[in-house]
Amino acid sequence: AVRVRFCPSPTGNPHVGLIRTALFNWAFARHHGGTLVFRIEDTDASRDSEESYEQLLDSLRWLGLDWDEGPEVGGPHAPYRQSERMDLYRDVAERLQEAGHAYRCYCTGEELEARREAARAAGKPSGYDGKCRDLSAEQRAAYEAEGRTAIVRFRMPDESITFQDLVRGELTFSPENVPDFGIVRANGAPLYTLVNPVDDALMEITHVLRGEDLLSSTPRQIALYRALAELGVGNGSTPLFGHLPYVMGEGNKKLSKRDPQASLNLYRERGFLPAGLLNYLSLLGWSLAEDRDIFTMDEMVSAFEITAVNANPARFDLKKCEAINATHLRELSVEDFVEACRPWLRAPHAPWKPESFDESAFVELAPLAQTRLTVLSDITQNVDFLFLEEPVSDEASWKKAMKPGAADLLRTARAGLAEAAWDAESLKDAVLAAGEQHGMKLGKAQAPVRVAVTGRTVGLPLFESLEVLGREPSLVRIDAALA
Ligand code: GLU
Repeated sequence: AVRVRFCPSPTGNPHVGLIRTALFNWAFARHHGGTLVFRIEDTDASRDSEESYEQLLDSLRWLGLDWDEGPEVGGPHAPYRQSERMDLYRDVAERLQEAGHAYRCYCTGEELEARREAARAAGKPSGYDGKCRDLSAEQRAAYEAEGRTAIVRFRMPDESITFQDLVRGELTFSPENVPDFGIVRANGAPLYTLVNPVDDALMEITHVLRGEDLLSSTPRQIALYRALAELGVGNGSTPLFGHLPYVMGEGNKKLSKRDPQASLNLYRERGFLPAGLLNYLSLLGWSLAEDRDIFTMDEMVSAFEITAVNANPARFDLKKCEAINATHLRELSVEDFVEACRPWLRAPHAPWKPESFDESAFVELAPLAQTRLTVLSDITQNVDFLFLEEPVSDEASWKKAMKPGAADLLRTARAGLAEAAWDAESLKDAVLAAGEQHGMKLGKAQAPVRVAVTGRTVGLPLFESLEVLGREPSLVRIDAALA
């Protein structure tokens, strides 16, 4: 049975690259009827935070990416926070040393650096040179008598490591490119290089799907896996690996965690739908069909194959992300759209007084907003004219619409509107007629009316907006604009 894991470190805010990894693991697990293990890699107390941990859980829940084992749901391999598994890692590190797969390395940082420099100068590989690989008990005792501390280093086998990457095909790493590596710090703290494969082994992970940035740790992990199998840690099999392509941002540079565009919270705050955002993120390396950008997560799950993931870097395109979200917004039922808008119709997003909100006015205009919005947060500015006592005043819009002749037009339009039946069709006729009188086409003639009533030059269709706002408030606003 398929068992995959999503195992972030709780540092900083969740970013889109991380969520793409979560999504692909989730889709893979669901496609195969497998198990998604959610594990928290919080072994670095100096960088990890509880706040970040809470955010990770909250983000996955918001997106609807559920897990089968992990925090809050538990499971047969609990605990799922590595900070609660430290004894286990220490034990494995001991056993690796006893079996000769790891050794204590006493080299100091300066010594390592000096030898690296020398190797570089000689054009040789500059990784760890194996100096402490085969120390005798006397040598160790001598180092310790000097007061040196030791890290634990894993002994890489002296042969190449080859594996079939599920995305990239066969890959081979030769020993000179994969030197012995540290697995436990001098202070006894186990490192990612140890705890990640140890937990993958113990949790019986069958497929490791993760970002390409981790590709260089894969040969080490495979070697470690083999050693663990020998020790009877885990079930003895090595998972298959698939490395997801890099996500590129602006200027074709790798999208960095610090890039504002990379922050998941940004998308949440702007009012992306989980379905729209996930749809877009799934396209970062995968596609349902060549001619289909829009699909549901159910459709993704039934079609998802890790071997269909493209190894080439994927470009993060905000415009496309927005367009896909807009399509998902349009596909909601009006009721669901209205519900999805709710958070943006109250404080702190909504600038109007709560008691000024008029449900039925909102519901009347909602379908017009639904076809125009890219993100839900934009709903506020599209309907604020209905609920604010006075329209927002935006000088730039005002200047743009109130060209010479605009006041005369507005006066004529006001007279016509005052007489008109209060429905969109009649209101349009009134503004059209006023325009004709002043030699203006409808588009030009409606601009001053729109600004007077809504405070903005762009917005929902004007005549429907006037109809919903009502005669009195509309005329009062036009009068205020003329005053
Ligand atoms: N905790 C690691 C990270 O967030 C996990 C990497 C992996 O999937 O192996 O980078």
